[in-house]
Amino acid sequence: MAHQQALPTNSTIGILGGGQLARMLSLAATPLGYKTCIYCPEDNGPALDVCHSNIVGAYDDEQKLRAFANKVDVITYEFENIPAATIAYLDGLVNVHPNLISLQTAQDRLVEKDYLNKVGTQTAPYANVANKADLDAAIIQLGLPAILKTRTMGYDGKGQVVIKTPNDVAEAYKLIEDNIFADCILEGFIDFDLEISVIIARDVNDNVAIYEPSENDHKNHILDISTIPANVAPFIKDQAAALATNIIKGLDYVGIMGVELFVSSIANNPLIVNEIAPRVHNSGHWTQDACYISQFEQHIRAITNMPLGTTKRHSDVVMKNLIGDDVNKAADYASQENAHIHLYGKADIKPGRKMGHINLLYPFGQPKG
Ligand code: AMP
Repeated sequence: MAHQQALPTNSTIGILGGGQLARMLSLAATPLGYKTCIYCPEDNGPALDVCHSNIVGAYDDEQKLRAFANKVDVITYEFENIPAATIAYLDGLVNVHPNLISLQTAQDRLVEKDYLNKVGTQTAPYANVANKADLDAAIIQLGLPAILKTRTMGYDGKGQVVIKTPNDVAEAYKLIEDNIFADCILEGFIDFDLEISVIIARDVNDNVAIYEPSENDHKNHILDISTIPANVAPFIKDQAAALATNIIKGLDYVGIMGVELFVSSIANNPLIVNEIAPRVHNSGHWTQDACYISQFEQHIRAITNMPLGTTKRHSDVVMKNLIGDDVNKAADYASQENAHIHLYGKADIKPGRKMGHINLLYPFGQPKG
């Protein structure tokens, strides 16, 4: 099939969301000759410093959304909690990537797990929990330990309770009572050896481009460090790539997707998908400096119908997130010749807030200091 025409130079990419992911997408769009217009509710997001235009508006303000659609040639988004109704509305006016079904699948942990199993991907065992009686039944079904999670709107460990013993059930009941968004889901606890993720892109012609997996370490439920290469066997890397390909193709998805996996040597199948993210992903930030083409450029290429680029890397790399006060350490890295600093320009330092990241490059195979 002939490749569809790429959007002409000077076209405008609309991005919903004004955070660091939108900022880095905007920075990647510029050398490709595209302009960006950011749409977000706040008037001081990190992306607003580096875009060509912006509209400050609520995600349900149809008048402003229409004005946004009129200004842009294609629309994408930087996070999965954009209301589905917003995407449905915009999609009638201009192309939106990734598509609505992908967003809806990633937004709801139950829909997501049903989809993953439907396409033959192993997940943690799970059960829908609408009320306390459901939780009691789900605990009998799945056993303990288990994790109760809100089906929607959770991130970085928020909206989750680990139930190790029956003593933890009271706290889980509270999550059910407090959860204003929707039902919860109980997941069986996976005894994993390590966590990896795959960053994958697909274009409108069904071509895919896959970065090799990163190994991810979390601190307080927030990504701390990604290491590439991951310490897993080549067959695991191949299986992870095959799974991600299956997942992205089944959704007719266009753009970058992040696929988070557990690697477990005791499960029947070593690879268990935790979740998918319909956007550029924190665990793909290493591609900015260790690859010829970053996940951000790759996403812009996919949504503008440019051919996808290589996912090859030229270095080993360790990506370190700067969370909260860590941002004050950025200057210490400035004299280190292998360190590439990315700060998001956020005015207020808050505990748990992602303020920036550092990519530390190493020659292939060199021990990481
Ligand atoms: P999530 O918000 O689903 O990405 O979960 C955040 C983190 O909690 C994951 O990166 C894992 O470290 C841990 N986690 C989530 N679900 C499970 C599970 N079913 N079993 C074991 N650990 C989990």
